[in-house]
Amino acid sequence: MADVYVFLGPPGAGKGTLGDVFCEKTGVVHISTGQLLRDEMAAGTELGAQVKGIIAAGGLVSDEIVAKMVANRLQKEDIKAHGCLLDGFPRTVPQAGMLEKILADGGDRMAAVVLIEADREMLMGRLTSRRVCSNKACGATFNVLTLPPKVEGICDKCGQPLIQRSDGSEETAKKRLAVYESETAPLVDFYDKKGQLVRTVSTNTTIEENYARLMKVIGR
Ligand code: ADP
Ligand code: ZN
Repeated sequence: MADVYVFLGPPGAGKGTLGDVFCEKTGVVHISTGQLLRDEMAAGTELGAQVKGIIAAGGLVSDEIVAKMVANRLQKEDIKAHGCLLDGFPRTVPQAGMLEKILADGGDRMAAVVLIEADREMLMGRLTSRRVCSNKACGATFNVLTLPPKVEGICDKCGQPLIQRSDGSEETAKKRLAVYESETAPLVDFYDKKGQLVRTVSTNTTIEENYARLMKVIGR
């Protein structure tokens, strides 16, 4: 039986960054559906080609595709042993229903659903300031505001040029926030009613401070 944590919140709230720290410190396995999909695109798979246009436009990939990807991943040994953090899934009410079935089938347990909130201005800033390494084999990520590379436009790890993420334009960022409000925000009520939701706020301070606030509500 695996403990499953869910991080819920608008794009740019820091689910990925806080998730990295949480998993590093606890040994829980980090599963980011956004990252799994970007890996598919980078590897040039059929699935990757299928989702490319949707992601670049800030839309959502179909519930079935994402749920299947997560279900496959959750069966792996590492997760059974250490539990996992779902970062970016579920993102719609139907996906939440699918997740309940996946957990029941696998004999896994929802440990906590954490809502990470942040103000809109900060979200827009963060979403448009992300940069990724153009070297697909490297994949390092940076942020011109919060985590700049040592040399502007150049990857610290491998020296290749940095590029804006395909979904990092201002227009796409606005669309992603609108999609969050209409498709994902209803999950807050869904989990609140089940008594599974805890809340934290992400602010423009340090990762350490945001992480400490997060751990207080998780109580792990
Ligand atoms: P990151 O958290 O690293 O910014 P995201 O989780 O925002 O990455 O995912 C990027 C894109 O991938 C989303 O805008 C969406 O198109 C797609 N995506 C990721 N997770 C899901 C999901 N659960 N359902 C539908 N689409 C998803
Ligand atoms: Zn690199």
